[in-house]
Formats: sequence, C-alpha cells, structure tokens
Amino acid sequence: MGGAAIVKLRPSPLVCRQAVELMSDYLDGALSGRDTRRLEKHLAVCESCRTYLEQLRLTISLSGSAGPDDLEPAALAELVDVFRKFRGGPDASSENDHA
Ligand SMILES: [Zn+2]
Repeated sequence: MGGAAIVKLRPSPLVCRQAVELMSDYLDGALSGRDTRRLEKHLAVCESCRTYLEQLRLTISLSGSAGPDDLEPAALAELVDVFRKFRGGPDASSENDHA
C-alpha cells in the first residue's frame, strides 16, 4: 500500500468556514498538528483567510483573549461568573487561573 496516496480531486480540503473555526485554537496553540497543517495549507492558497487570521491575531493581542468577537467584555465577565457559580466552591477559580 501507500503508492499514490495523494488524491488530487480535492484542491481545497478545508473550506473557509472551517478554516475560520480553527483559527482561534490555532492562535491559542491548541490546535493539533494535523489540523495546523490543514489550516496552514488552506492559508497558503486563500488570501482572504490570511487577512482574517491577521485581524484575529491583532484582536487577540489587543484584547488578550481569543473569545468570539461578538461577545462583549461585560457579557463575558457575566459568563465567567455563572461558570464559577455553576462549578461551585470558593476555590473553583484556583484550578484554572490561566483560563
Ligand atoms: Zn479561506
């Protein structure tokens, strides 16, 4: 086995929408090696995704987090609060200080 491994019928294994979904994890360093390669392959051929990634990177460096951009800081803080209550315990915050 392992002769003609690469099938050329699929020029774009990753559509833009999937690429965008991978980006925040990619910038977070949370993406698996395989997905990273898939994303980088797509970025190599897709200029609009490269532009989007740069904007995302900039947004993250300014805000310090990779949250959804339609989520306002206040809403995010509220969500974190809800999470703490949900998990219960006064020391619940100590186990993920780096969120
Ligand atoms: Zn794209």
